[in-house]
Amino acid sequence: MISVLSTPPVFAACAALLGLCVGSFLNVVIHRLPKMMERQWKAECAEVAGQEAAPAPRYNLVVPRSACPSCGHPISAIENVPVMSWLALGGKCKGCKTAISPRYPAVELLTGMLSGYIAWHFGFGMAAAGALLFTWAMIALTFIDLDTFFLPDSITLPLLWLGLLFNIGSTYVSLSSAVIGAVAGYLSLWSVYWAFKWATGKEGMGYGDFKLLAAIGAWLGWTMLPLTILLSSLVGAAIGIFMIVFAGRGRSVPIPFGPYLAIAGMIALLYGPALTRSYLGPL
Ligand SMILES: [Zn+2]
Repeated sequence: MISVLSTPPVFAACAALLGLCVGSFLNVVIHRLPKMMERQWKAECAEVAGQEAAPAPRYNLVVPRSACPSCGHPISAIENVPVMSWLALGGKCKGCKTAISPRYPAVELLTGMLSGYIAWHFGFGMAAAGALLFTWAMIALTFIDLDTFFLPDSITLPLLWLGLLFNIGSTYVSLSSAVIGAVAGYLSLWSVYWAFKWATGKEGMGYGDFKLLAAIGAWLGWTMLPLTILLSSLVGAAIGIFMIVFAGRGRSVPIPFGPYLAIAGMIALLYGPALTRSYLGPL
């Protein structure tokens, strides 16, 4: 069984199928996690104010079951098959025919394709397993940041610990490079933040961005940090220019920085060693 699974095409195909299902779950995380955080803040605020918190129905990643936000039609298992169900339903709710956002199948497809590619790129083993977890976290963080301008601690912090754990066995880099990467990742953006705030009086990014770069440093080591920052600026500039030219977005409209960091982190994970070799020469 393991020997069949470890052949590259079979492993990539299995990872792609798994990725489609994980993408479906990531849609739930992207939609519900910010709402769960908001509920928690409200409950904490009420507690501090000494008020009796109103009993709220349970709401987490599992409960209640998914339902159409317009009509409450519960989504059955057959309507929940990644990508296929959305196509079969013509992108509309079965109950009330309200359009279902194409972002749901898009997130599933993206997760499936990236997962298949990761499996193909790394081959069967620990490095692929870790890279899949890293990728899924990056996808969830990207869309949550786009929606809410937040990078939840409940994703960035476990991701950081997990990066350190994977590198105990030097899966990607030595443990010392990973530890320095986590600290330097946090401090580098933290200093940029304060320098920018001191110079302009504005806040250019948030603490979630520092934690995300710390997590990337924990996975890929400190040597990947300059490349990651460079790539995130390039991706940010490219998307920013595209938005201004084609989408008519004003230059002052804030765009979250998290997605750029996440995309840069993905490029560094897959091609970082090759890219640094090409601009630093063989070390
Ligand atoms: Zn409906």
